[in-house]
Amino acid sequence: MRLTGRRLAHVREVHRAAVGDRLSVGLLGGLLGSGRVTQLDSECLAMDITLDQSPPSKLPLTLMLALPRPKVLNRVLASATSLGVARIYLVNAWKVEKSYWKSPRMEGSNLLEQRILGLEQAKDTVLPELHLRRLFRPFVEEELPGITEGSLALVGHPGAPMPCPRAVQGPVTLAVGPEGGWIDAELLSLRGAGFQAVDLGPRILRTETAVAALVGRLC
Ligand code: SAM
Repeated sequence: MRLTGRRLAHVREVHRAAVGDRLSVGLLGGLLGSGRVTQLDSECLAMDITLDQSPPSKLPLTLMLALPRPKVLNRVLASATSLGVARIYLVNAWKVEKSYWKSPRMEGSNLLEQRILGLEQAKDTVLPELHLRRLFRPFVEEELPGITEGSLALVGHPGAPMPCPRAVQGPVTLAVGPEGGWIDAELLSLRGAGFQAVDLGPRILRTETAVAALVGRLC
């Protein structure tokens, strides 16, 4: 294996690796293993690698996330990937600004890179599925029932009377709202699709914190 660019810089500056050191490696979509550094300079790192371990299992969790602002999107995608979320749907909502959908961060290359960063962080190799849905109502009415089938469907909503359950056994579909929250009509549609609104307590959390707290509590 030969590393250049960002990954070479990371190994040099963060791991401060030297020739002979062993590093954890993984092949995107494949196995994990280790590598022994055989050559290292400012241009390239070479390793002899062995790939012999399976990546960790995904959480049985589908995340339906109202598209956050572009900067936040990067962080949420990487952290949801690190947490092991199996499937992510980025959806529109009333309080999602239309310009977010046109951001360069919505390009396939960035959406892939953020998930890869999440995989690298967590020593995983399998990308979570990622789907973009720009129309809320048809998504909720036509597609969501198939997605939630056989799972516990929950929507994070501050102030909901039901506390978010802990350590749920079995698959979960979790909806997390936009910065301004879900509007009543959206909550009604989600309820119609079988979602129960759940609360995490009196503190209103930023999207990225809410995703981590909800997933941590549920799984
Ligand atoms: N002002 C918005 C509201 O009251 O709904 C805050 C939205 S918050 C920044 C973004 C999303 O994170 C919310 O729509 C919800 O899905 C989730 N969230 C944040 N804090 C939460 C809490 N305490 N309980 C449940 N969900 C929460």
